[in-house]
Amino acid sequence: MKRTFLSLYFSSMFIAVLLCSCHSVIKKDCETCNGDGYTMEECEECDGTGFVAVTCRECDGVGYEECTFCFGTGRDECTLCGGKGSKECVDCNGYGRKRCTSCNGSGRSSLWYDSDNSLCLTCSGRGYEDCNTCYGTGRERCSSCNGRGYEDCFSCNGTGRDNCSLCNGLGKVKVRCSECDGDGEIKKTCEDCDGDGKVSVLE
Ligand SMILES: [Zn+2]
Ligand SMILES: [Zn+2]
Ligand SMILES: [Zn+2]
Ligand SMILES: [Zn+2]
Ligand SMILES: [Zn+2]
Ligand SMILES: [Zn+2]
Ligand SMILES: [Zn+2]
Repeated sequence: MKRTFLSLYFSSMFIAVLLCSCHSVIKKDCETCNGDGYTMEECEECDGTGFVAVTCRECDGVGYEECTFCFGTGRDECTLCGGKGSKECVDCNGYGRKRCTSCNGSGRSSLWYDSDNSLCLTCSGRGYEDCNTCYGTGRERCSSCNGRGYEDCFSCNGTGRDNCSLCNGLGKVKVRCSECDGDGEIKKTCEDCDGDGKVSVLE
């Protein structure tokens, strides 16, 4: 009963407003934009961050540059062996053999009881012995570089590459968004008032 009465009451009010001849159209400040005519919206170009990522011009987007220390080889020549990986045997001065100490290189026995011209037993008459240190090769493997002749470049750890200093290996750098000038927001004409700042209402 009460409900019916209320709805009846409001219906008649509504009709009264519609039919009232004294109402007039006035302009009010648009509530959407507070009368400014525009709203600030998140910049789509930079997702509101104010920055966009662009290809790094320093490394062309690859993220690294050739190592300046090793010119991209990743290797550092071993200074101890000059890059050869081996060095002269210090025991035999690189000859690979040593003069026989028993016969002083003559190959002949010098012992008084040996018959003349008998061969030196130590060197079988050769006058020399193979160097035990280098097995007769005259060269020793360089222990500093393990025979490789080079060591990994200290700067790039042997990769031959250095992370680009500008983008730190990312290949992209962040620059100020030109769309919003780094603000992250863009002025947009208010759709509710079409930029007027005012809307028409009935009073
Ligand atoms: Zn870069
Ligand atoms: Zn070496
Ligand atoms: Zn000998
Ligand atoms: Zn030797
Ligand atoms: Zn290097
Ligand atoms: Zn932006
Ligand atoms: Zn507006």
